[in-house]
Parts: sequence; C-alpha cells; structure tokens
Amino acid sequence: MNIILFGAPGAGKGTQSAMLVDKLGMVQISTGDLFRSAIKNSTELGLAAKSYMDRGDLVPDSIVIGMVEEVLKGLKGKSFILDGFPRTVAQAEALGKMLQVNSMSIGKAIFLEVPKEELLDRLTGRRVCQSCGAVYHIHSKPPKEAGVCDQCSGQVVQRNDDKEDVIATRLKTYEENTLPLRGFYRDNGKYVEVSGNREAGQVFEAIRSLLA
Ligand code: AMP
Repeated sequence: MNIILFGAPGAGKGTQSAMLVDKLGMVQISTGDLFRSAIKNSTELGLAAKSYMDRGDLVPDSIVIGMVEEVLKGLKGKSFILDGFPRTVAQAEALGKMLQVNSMSIGKAIFLEVPKEELLDRLTGRRVCQSCGAVYHIHSKPPKEAGVCDQCSGQVVQRNDDKEDVIATRLKTYEENTLPLRGFYRDNGKYVEVSGNREAGQVFEAIRSLLA
C-alpha cells in the first residue's frame, strides 16, 4: 500500500518513514530530503529551492510537483511513503492526476497529530547528521559523542530552518497551507489520524496496523 504521511514540522514524519523503510522495505519519498540533497550538490533545483527553505516558506508548487513527478516515474511498483508531499491542496490535486497517469493509488493519508508545545521542543532541540541524515535531539537522543554521528561519524548540526525565527514561519505556513489537507483527504475517504505524541515505536505500531 502507498501512503501519505503528513503533519506539522517535527511531527515525526521522517522518523516514521525511516522505520517503514527499515522494517517494511517501503520507499521513502521525502521532498525536504530531495531539496536538501539538491542544495548540497549545488544543482539548479537546489538553487531554486534554497531561499524559500532558508526562510521557512514553501518551495513553489510548480517546482515541487515537477520533482515528485520524476520520482514517481522511477518507482517500479514498490510501495512508497510520501513524506512532506503534498503540503498544499494544489499539490494534492496534482498528485491525484500524477497517480492516475501512472496507474498508482494512495491507500491512506495518515495525519500525525502532535501538540504545538511538543513540536517546538522537538524542532528547537533537533540535530541532524550532515552526512547520513540520522536525527538526534539535544535532550532526548543526543549522540554518544557531542557533534559526532553514532552511525557514520559525520558532523551533527542544527538545520538552518530549525533555528527559532524560521520555525515560527514554518509553523504558520503549515497551519495556513497544509492543515487544510485534512479536509481534502477526509472528503476522498483516505484520511486517518494517528497520535504522534508518544514514543516512536508506539507510533510505528499504530501505523503498521493501518497497513495490514
Ligand atoms: P521538511 O524536511 O519536510 O521539513 O522540508 C523542509 C523544507 O523543504 C520546507 O520547509 C519547505 O521549504 C521545503 N519543502 C519540502 N517539501 C515541500 C513541499 N511539498 N512543498 C513545498 N515546499 C516543500
């Protein structure tokens, strides 16, 4: 089954996607990761996305939709997780068309619900490995050696858009543009809500049971 994972920044979409990839062999399509990798490689796509991301704004729909279209074409039948896409109703509508053209479908659009206080704590404390993308938290999951990734010894840093002033913009952008997707997916019968305000393993089990 193909799924959409959506929710606020810091809701745990990346963590849950990584677990779904690891334990169920699904393919993760993270638009945020794709943009970060494009920026790292200084591609045209990266250049186009960087200023929006640095401000905490959404990258324009036309750029994101074109990028996802390319990725979907190369999937070869594997079950996938859309992580961070769609983020606007226009993206959701475009996705519907892309899926139809590629004879694909979405089984569930899973909304990860997390209270704002908790989101703020997760985002301000989040640190990531610059090399492999492993995610840490300064209090709840620090790397064994400060600033060094447990998995690959890469440098563990704060994402530019996890700085406090940018977080405020990201949360506002989310409320205005992405929250309306709940109504969109309720209307087409795919919507499911899962509490993301608990230990990652428990959230994963809740998601896994929805896929059975
Ligand atoms: P994420 O890693 O999902 O938190 O995404 C990081 C940033 O990438 C977002 O704050 C946006 O600037 C950009 N981005 C990721 N996905 C999308 C999307 N579907 N639409 C527009 N911008 C996106």
